[in-house]
Amino acid sequence: MKNLNEALKKSDLIKKAYDFGKEAHRGQKRKNGEPYFNHCIAAAESVIEWGLDEQTAAAALLHDAVEDTDRTLDDIRKNFGDDVAFLVDGVTKVGKVKYRGIEAKVENLRKFILYLSKDIRVILVKLADRLHNMRTLYAVHPQKQKRIALETTEIYAPLAYRLGMQKLSGELEDLAFPYIYPQEYKWLMTNIRGRYEEREKYSQKFKPLIEKVLQENDMDIIGIDSRAKRYSSLYKKLLRYDMNIDHIYDLVAIRALVPSIEDCYAAMGIIHKNWPPVPGRIKDYIALPKPNGYRSLHTVVFGPDEKLTEIQIRTPQMHDEAENGIAAHFAYQRTKGTKNYIERRVSLANKKELMWIKQLKNWQNEFTGTEEFLQSLKIDFFKDRILALTPKGEVIDLPAGATPVDFAYQIHSQVGNRCVGAKINNRITPLDSKLQSGDVVEIIVQKNKNPSASWLNFVKTSHARNHIKIAIKNNKTSLIKKVPQKLEFKLTVENGIGLLRNITQVISRSHIDIKSVNTQENSKSPIVRLVINALPKNKTEKLSTKLKNLKGVKEVSYRSF
Ligand code: MN
Repeated sequence: MKNLNEALKKSDLIKKAYDFGKEAHRGQKRKNGEPYFNHCIAAAESVIEWGLDEQTAAAALLHDAVEDTDRTLDDIRKNFGDDVAFLVDGVTKVGKVKYRGIEAKVENLRKFILYLSKDIRVILVKLADRLHNMRTLYAVHPQKQKRIALETTEIYAPLAYRLGMQKLSGELEDLAFPYIYPQEYKWLMTNIRGRYEEREKYSQKFKPLIEKVLQENDMDIIGIDSRAKRYSSLYKKLLRYDMNIDHIYDLVAIRALVPSIEDCYAAMGIIHKNWPPVPGRIKDYIALPKPNGYRSLHTVVFGPDEKLTEIQIRTPQMHDEAENGIAAHFAYQRTKGTKNYIERRVSLANKKELMWIKQLKNWQNEFTGTEEFLQSLKIDFFKDRILALTPKGEVIDLPAGATPVDFAYQIHSQVGNRCVGAKINNRITPLDSKLQSGDVVEIIVQKNKNPSASWLNFVKTSHARNHIKIAIKNNKTSLIKKVPQKLEFKLTVENGIGLLRNITQVISRSHIDIKSVNTQENSKSPIVRLVINALPKNKTEKLSTKLKNLKGVKEVSYRSF
């Protein structure tokens, strides 16, 4: 399958998904005014271009059908089977993850996406979806643009890179760059664009010379091409070189494809004989591949007119892997064997030899997480973990069997303490229900609520357990030692009109509200009782002294209750 048109003719499943999706999205428009289904077509085009199977192409066509139309996951399952339904469900769940720029949460987001990658095809559909969304990002509201662009560089471009899909990763970075760094992008456009053209012209002159010397030495050349460095990676590199463009030798690199690994080394020798290399600039990524699996020879040579130029030499397979990474592996595996995808996935997973597993393992090493997390990162990722989402798309990482109460305490102890109910996927659910990965959990809170001791019977995390115990203990002690609320001053006074007014003035000058005033006139010395809200000890003393100093006041005492 080269493209969607061909796939539609060859695969009934893809054709059926096409018709189903088109019907489901009928009448819907994208922000740029196009029919919505164009987006699904674009996603399918990408996964077909990457060489994926018909289930994945069908899932790409249907990836928004559950989220954005009235079709349900059951409809998908009935019509397209468990495999496609699983993929659509996975993509829908990943779509709920939102990056909100909190550094610590990036790890959780990536974990969540990894969790779903127990079938890597989920990620590939999601990447195809994101690629088209980035290509049409101009039509989206400016505030949303930046968030989506950041999410793309923080989550999806690194994910593509980890899967060895450098071309996709680079394109995602480049598409996001102008939205994240508009000023810098403008600077690059005005200062660098001319330089690109000049270098491109130069490499057009240089390429036939390289071809010629290789042919003279009886080497087969499958292709020779030039590639311009991406704006986003150029910018990162410029930052390291004081924005001095003269120090960037690979602005436009020349890329030669030769049949075998031996040819790669031989070609480099021939090139170096004709154009001397710059010392320290030879990189052998064939003997020492990059962590993401990238293989190639790189060298910088003094080209014609003594201009420094980067040359990359590799085999076509290395090239395909470098561009398409994991997807290239899928394509090779599919054309090689007769085993179907599922069988292959299981057998390779058991051997733990598949490239992407290695790559994900490399990635795992970058996590700063706990032992527990590292151990749980097996082919069956996070078997013992649940990754649930807040309504805002934050990922909450919990042990298997966790309940909404555990979730609430994970957000904040106060959310836990005040929790009175929970909605899972918009449905009111008992507080002791078991959460599933991908559940969207909303906690209902009420002020002045206290946790119930019965929660201790079902909570799973020690975090929640400890907080519940503390809250219950605090609650009991506060019932025994009641905090005083009111303060009563008892003043023994001499008879005198106006004294009462003087007393109340002293109090209101201290900005204190008087709750009640009582006078007892029946004895020789009348008694005035004043009730105010409770005060700290020192303020109570101060007020007491002020009152005692009033003329006509004989005695002052107070009590709190
Ligand atoms: Mn979509």
